[in-house]
Amino acid sequence: MPTFRVKPFLLNSASCNILLFFVYFVFPLLLGKVLAASPIMPLAIFYLSNIFILFYLFRRNYFQNRDFQLRLQSLQETINLSNVEYSKEKGNNLSLKEKNLRYNSLAKLLDKINLTLELESVTETLAQEAFSLISKNKGVCIVYLIDSQNQKLILFKNKAEREGLVIKAKEGDILDLWVLRHAAPLLIEDIRNDFRFDPDKLVLLEIRPVSSLISSPFLTENKQMGILRLDNQEAGFYSQDDLRFLVAISDLGAIAIENSELFKAAHDLAIHDSLTGLYTKDYFLGRLKEEYKRSIRQVTPLSLLMLDIDFFKKYNDQFGHTAGDIVLQKLSKVITGALTRLNPVTSRFGGEEFCVAIAGVDKMEALGIAESLRLRIEKEKIILRRSETNITVSIGIANLPEDTMDEEELIRKADKAMYQAKQQGRNKVCPI
Ligand code: GH3
Ligand code: MG
Ligand code: MG
Repeated sequence: MPTFRVKPFLLNSASCNILLFFVYFVFPLLLGKVLAASPIMPLAIFYLSNIFILFYLFRRNYFQNRDFQLRLQSLQETINLSNVEYSKEKGNNLSLKEKNLRYNSLAKLLDKINLTLELESVTETLAQEAFSLISKNKGVCIVYLIDSQNQKLILFKNKAEREGLVIKAKEGDILDLWVLRHAAPLLIEDIRNDFRFDPDKLVLLEIRPVSSLISSPFLTENKQMGILRLDNQEAGFYSQDDLRFLVAISDLGAIAIENSELFKAAHDLAIHDSLTGLYTKDYFLGRLKEEYKRSIRQVTPLSLLMLDIDFFKKYNDQFGHTAGDIVLQKLSKVITGALTRLNPVTSRFGGEEFCVAIAGVDKMEALGIAESLRLRIEKEKIILRRSETNITVSIGIANLPEDTMDEEELIRKADKAMYQAKQQGRNKVCPI
């Protein structure tokens, strides 16, 4: 910052010396010579003129001094004003720099979110970036998403300055519910002085101290998807600028989250059969490849069950195609219900054909599982056109490593075993 010094205004010393020389030396001499007859007169005149000159000098100096003080004051005022302007400009410059940095980082953030359509990585990026860019990794950052089933918040991601911090408000607290209800951003400078919230209701304060907070909803045109929240135990940690930046991040985040939800829905549609909800044949084959590799790597068995409905054509002919569809849906539910605990990969392999891969199960176990499944299906009552009926299935089994070490061979063998079951009279389980 430049500094200003004002030099005091001094009497011109050369002219002063000349004046004094005349007054004290030349003038008395001249007077003495002119008025030599009476010596008192020159002395009187000398002292009078002396007093007069001194008075004149004093008066002149007094006004000069006053003038100088006024000029000094006005200069000081100008300096002060300049200083205020300067610090203001400096502050503006700094905040402009900071804003510039922040909005540049928004572009980078957008690139990062666009790299993926996975909800996991999108929310991870949003939490990480908001935490580091706004909070400088201080306090806590939480991403809540809305569960579409019950419209409640679910804690999805969190970042914390303190390692291992557990966020207990898994469904959010009153502050999050406020943001959700108002669908608007929230800034709290000091929670204890904020009339909108009753500190007694803030259970979270007892668990972890929170004084200031900024929070913004993930909002698209017609949908609210969650909340991006930053909080800190220090009061006044966040500014209006911070909130504005958080809103910019959550706006970008909302679009990215909506995209990843759409992507997930499209992906789900692509990998699930629309009638039964089981995996499609293509997706199943991909999953089988993974299971096969894992079994080889971990030297664990893998069993394949191939199921086909017996005389299904008959059902279609007797009850109609729509009724046949209901049978297929019912059968899918029975299969998934019966095998859930085994964590199988279940698919609709063809029209009325189903294929199930069960990892970690040897051939003997697979035989037992298939037999009890066959019995369960046989016993399941199905009401078609007000008459009670049931279906039976034929099941073929092949196992890795007992029947083959080859993945494609495993499918072929299970299929072959299923046809053997058909040949043996249907409603049977047949190992290869
Ligand atoms: P088998 O015991 O030898 O298996 O006799 P099947 O009648 O079950 O065998 P087939 O292959 O002759 O007939 C299968 C039938 O499954 C033919 C087809 O109409 C029916 N089907 C295939 N996909 C669907 C479907 O999506 N919905 C309905 N309703 N029927 C289907
Ligand atoms: Mg059949
Ligand atoms: Mg068939």
